[in-house]
Amino acid sequence: MTKSKLRVYDDTRAMFHLPDGVIYLDGNSLGALPLGVAERVSRVITTEWGDALIRAWNTAGWYAQPRHVGDRIARLIGAEAGSVMVGDTLSLKVYQALAAALDMSASRKVVLSDTGNFPTDLYMAEGLIATLGRGHQLRLVAPEEIEAALSEEIAVLYITEVDYRTGRRHDMAKLTAKAHALGIVTVWDLAHSAGALPVDLAGSGADFAAGCTYKYINAGPGAPAFLYVAPRHADSARAALSGWMGHAKPFAFELAYVAAGGIERMRVGTPPVLAMAALEASLDIWDRVDIAEVRARSLALGDLLIAEVGRRCPSLELVTPRAHERRGSQVSFAFDGGYAAMQALIARGVIGDFRAPDIMRFGITPLYIGGSEVMRAAEIIEEVIAGEVWRRPEYQVVNAVT
Ligand SMILES: *Cc1c(COP(=O)(O)O)cnc(C)c1O
Repeated sequence: MTKSKLRVYDDTRAMFHLPDGVIYLDGNSLGALPLGVAERVSRVITTEWGDALIRAWNTAGWYAQPRHVGDRIARLIGAEAGSVMVGDTLSLKVYQALAAALDMSASRKVVLSDTGNFPTDLYMAEGLIATLGRGHQLRLVAPEEIEAALSEEIAVLYITEVDYRTGRRHDMAKLTAKAHALGIVTVWDLAHSAGALPVDLAGSGADFAAGCTYKYINAGPGAPAFLYVAPRHADSARAALSGWMGHAKPFAFELAYVAAGGIERMRVGTPPVLAMAALEASLDIWDRVDIAEVRARSLALGDLLIAEVGRRCPSLELVTPRAHERRGSQVSFAFDGGYAAMQALIARGVIGDFRAPDIMRFGITPLYIGGSEVMRAAEIIEEVIAGEVWRRPEYQVVNAVT
């Protein structure tokens, strides 16, 4: 059965819960709540967990779910069917991807990343390198220098497509092609790409990719991550986290590990069934929207925010590239009082976030944000900045989570 298409915003806005008086520009950090989630999770709790109990692993399809949900995500990221596994957290999935990639290029020792990468990706690489103890080195260069830093010395190119602070976007097809020409394996982090813009993993030839589902995909706090392995590597990639669910025969309970065929080997342990139910409900919307339409709207809304804030608040310095092909789906400004200014905005219902040292981030999520919300947000930003409201003492107190 083909489901009817949804028009972005016009049909989708009403499918989200958004509190009155809030303009939510932080869907790049935690997506808004799709209305279908509560009903779905509650059904899984009562009829599946409650009534079917342990039988639900078979009768409700819990066991096969990580792979089936992976196929639904595959559509959003241009991946082949059967190439995406869901589970764990993004920190773990980048670890698995990098471990498999390093294993494929045993004689090279350098992992290349950039200083715009998200810290957990870098920390996980450090941890993996220490565990392997084979003398690997994590080399960081500025994002603009990545292309020039590719060489035959590099084992793995390990970067995030869209920079979490600036929203700057790498050219995945071009960098992957250049990396491959030099014998480099590629690992792409899609945390700020999946559900934000069209990704073409199969077309670009990427080797590995990982991403999370609680940002643009709207699956809720702690929602599981996903891992992509190009089909040409799926039967040979080594699963460093060799858990029982990635075993060829988990229920034979053999004493020795034998990797399952294909993407199944990237499973680790028991999947988070309740969190996966929320993810499925969020994908019910994604299955019916055209990501190209989401992207077109995102760019138009981003242009509007850039123009309006630029005109009203010259003291905010735009750090997101203006060129469409070079940016993701957020708009960021550098401002010395950025933390306090964001607190003042949140107090006025405009929810964005702050990233040290001085970045104010505004996520653009066209499923539930439109032009009128962006215009209203720009007016409130002007009030806070031009009116110096952010200087008030109550906005200077720093919370644990920014
Ligand atoms: C959000 C984000 C993460 C978060 O990792 P978790 O394990 O889900 O906490 C990792 N990497 C990047 C690039 C991110 O943007």
